[in-house]
Amino acid sequence: MPPLQEFDLIRRYFAERTGKNPAVALGIGDDCALLQIPAGMQLAVTADTLVEGVHFLPGCDAHDLAYKALAVNLSDLAAMGAEAAAFTLALTLPAAEAAWLERFADGLFALANAHGVQLCGGDTTRGPLPVLTIQAMGLVSQGQALPRSGAQAGDGIYITGCLGDAGLGLLAAQGQWPGPATDALARFYRPQPRLAAGLALRGLAHACIDISDGLAADLGHILAASGVGAELDWQRLPFSADLQAYLAAGGDWRFPLGCGDDYELCFTAPGEPAAVIARLAAAGCACSHIGLIQAETGLRLRREGQTLPLDRLGYQHFAEPPHG
Ligand code: ADP
Ligand code: MG
Repeated sequence: MPPLQEFDLIRRYFAERTGKNPAVALGIGDDCALLQIPAGMQLAVTADTLVEGVHFLPGCDAHDLAYKALAVNLSDLAAMGAEAAAFTLALTLPAAEAAWLERFADGLFALANAHGVQLCGGDTTRGPLPVLTIQAMGLVSQGQALPRSGAQAGDGIYITGCLGDAGLGLLAAQGQWPGPATDALARFYRPQPRLAAGLALRGLAHACIDISDGLAADLGHILAASGVGAELDWQRLPFSADLQAYLAAGGDWRFPLGCGDDYELCFTAPGEPAAVIARLAAAGCACSHIGLIQAETGLRLRREGQTLPLDRLGYQHFAEPPHG
């Protein structure tokens, strides 16, 4: 097959496959895309770059790569309480291989079209190694975005979904966890951006963040930005069956608090936990009440009758998998 020309490539794998979003007045094909921002709304913008050899391995599945690159961007929109509208894609490749591009587009649009977010532009270049940048844009009503800085003493702390599965999936992918990991691997390769939960949290949550670097680190960002502290309750942390098997096999209990890539939302909210959980459930999203925001700064964990400081918890210190 002759090498793909740049414009054929853009048309075939990207322009013809994207879904539509009403915020995009003009999509792929001109010098710029045009986004129409309804009166009273703000544009939420985020970007992430993935470099081969740094963020993903040569030979990784292009489907999973594209899916995850978009998922982490949509997760940032979710954490802001924004409605996903559009994204751009800047792609640098050493060569245009049809089979690779096909799988890449499959992964990209599996997620994009499920959330009605439109690919509205980008850039395609040849370069020595694959690099992929996605910029995602969403809409949020003025004053309704969910900042990191709004947590108040007395707020409950919540997370969506389960904790630590993506980290366990990575261990399994590296051959370091021989136990059950089907769900954990799915969570590692295909994180689910919690967009519906983010929308349901508008007017409810005081502060919100998505968990990319681990609960302890990311909740730490909320605490620092808000000038408060927190206590988590070990008993309340939601663990999948895979993660429970890991802990039962002697895996470090700190692991799920420090490992990254879960892309669940961690938020704080005032009021009755049952009401908060019911509101998220109505949006189709499971969440757990895991702790309390306190005036005293620092992050603490109640576990087996002890209160343990979590402030210096770092992934590096406890990434050792259990043996046996
Ligand atoms: P320009 O030179 O004016 O920047 P290009 O020739 O790079 O435009 O791209 C042509 C059109 O295709 C533009 O609308 C651009 O946004 C879009 N485009 C280029 N690469 C991609 C891509 N990887 N995904 C989506 N749209 C793309
Ligand atoms: Mg131009």
